[in-house]
Amino acid sequence: MKTIFKSFKFRIYPNKDQEILMAKHFGACRFVFNHYLNKRKETYLEDKKSLNYYDNANDLTQFKKDENFNWLKEINSQSLQSSLRNLDTAYGKFFRKQTKFPRFKSKYDKQSFKIPQFVKLENNELILPKFKSGIKINLHREINGEILFATISKSTTDKYYVSITCEVNHKPFDKTGSEVGIDTGIKDLAILSDGTTYENIKTLKKNLKKVKYNQRQLSKKVKGSSSRNKQKQKLAIVHEKITNVRKDYLHKVSTEIVKNHDIISVEDLAVKNIMKNHKLAQAMSDVSLGTFYSMLEYKCEWNDKQFVKIDRFFPSSKMCSNCGWINQDLTLNIREWTCSSCGEKHDRDFNASKNILKQGLKIILSGSGIESDIKQKQVEALSLDESMKPETH
Ligand SMILES: [Zn+2]
Repeated sequence: MKTIFKSFKFRIYPNKDQEILMAKHFGACRFVFNHYLNKRKETYLEDKKSLNYYDNANDLTQFKKDENFNWLKEINSQSLQSSLRNLDTAYGKFFRKQTKFPRFKSKYDKQSFKIPQFVKLENNELILPKFKSGIKINLHREINGEILFATISKSTTDKYYVSITCEVNHKPFDKTGSEVGIDTGIKDLAILSDGTTYENIKTLKKNLKKVKYNQRQLSKKVKGSSSRNKQKQKLAIVHEKITNVRKDYLHKVSTEIVKNHDIISVEDLAVKNIMKNHKLAQAMSDVSLGTFYSMLEYKCEWNDKQFVKIDRFFPSSKMCSNCGWINQDLTLNIREWTCSSCGEKHDRDFNASKNILKQGLKIILSGSGIESDIKQKQVEALSLDESMKPETH
C-alpha cells in the first residue's frame, strides 16, 4: 500500500444564498489574482524588483484593512491566499519556460476557488468555512481517505462542482516486466512499440462537426444579443461534452498502459509543438496530449512504474530503429519507408515508438534523466484546479 493524493469530483447544488456567496468567492479570488498580477508587473517595470508570494500575502493583509475593501471580509481568507499561490505557481512555470506569461482572469472563463482546509462531508452535504449551511451534493461514489482540500468550480454551462482531494491508500499495480515506447499522432492517440495502437475516439469527430456548426452560428449573432448568449451556451455544452468523453477515454487508455508496462517512455511534448498548426482538430489533440502525458506520469508515480521523457531533439521518426541510420529525406507526409542501410521496412509511427523506447531506456540506464518533479507538478495541478476525474477504470 502507498499513500497518494486523489481527487473526487461531484456535482453540487447550492441554494440561492450559497450561490451568491460562491459568486463573491469567485469574484474576490479573481480580483486578488488580477490585482497582484498587475502589482507584480508594475513593480518589476518601475523598480526591476520581483515580488514573491510572501510580499503579496503581507500586502493583502494590510489591504483588507482598507474600508473600501470591506467586502473581502466575507470571503474565506485562505481561499484568497491560495489565489496568490496560484499566481506564484503561474510565475514559476513561466520562469521555468513551461508556460506563457500569466494572463488576467476573466469572469467569462470557468470560475473556481480553493478551500485549503476545514472541508467536511456530513449527511450528504458539503460543509465549507464561511458558508452557514451545508451545500447539497450528489455523492455518486464513496470517497475514502482523509480530506485535504477542495476546489469549487462553476462551468461555462452554469453547473457547480466540487473537487475533493484526499490522501488515500492505494495498492500499486503488479509488475509485468514489460517496457514500452509511445509515439503520438493525429489519427492515433498513441502508437506503442509493442504494436498496440489507440485510435483517437470517433465521438470526437462527430462532436467536432457540432463545434464548427455552433461556432458558425455564433459568429452570425449580434454581439451582446440574447440569442448570441444562448448560442454561446450551446457551444459551451458541446465543449463540455467533448471534454468529458475525451477525459474518460484518456483515463481508460492511460490506466491500461500503466497496468501493462513497468517502464513508459514518451517524447517531450515540445516536439509536437513544432509541428503545431491552427486547425481545430489539431488544437484539441494538443490539449489532449498534455493531459494524456500527465495522467501517464502521475499514474506511474501511483503504481511505482517508471515514466521517462526523451529529449525534444532526438530524431525519433527519422532514425531506423533497426540499425540507427538517419533518413534525412523523411518528410511529414511519408507514412512508410525502407531503410537504405539495412533494408528494414518501417511504419513511420511504429518505428518512432521503438526509438522512443530505446532512447528512454538509455536515459534510465545512464541515470541522466531529468529528475521528474511529479510531486511538485501534482500539487501545482491540483492547486490550479485541473482536478482529476475520479478513477473509474
Ligand atoms: Zn536500418
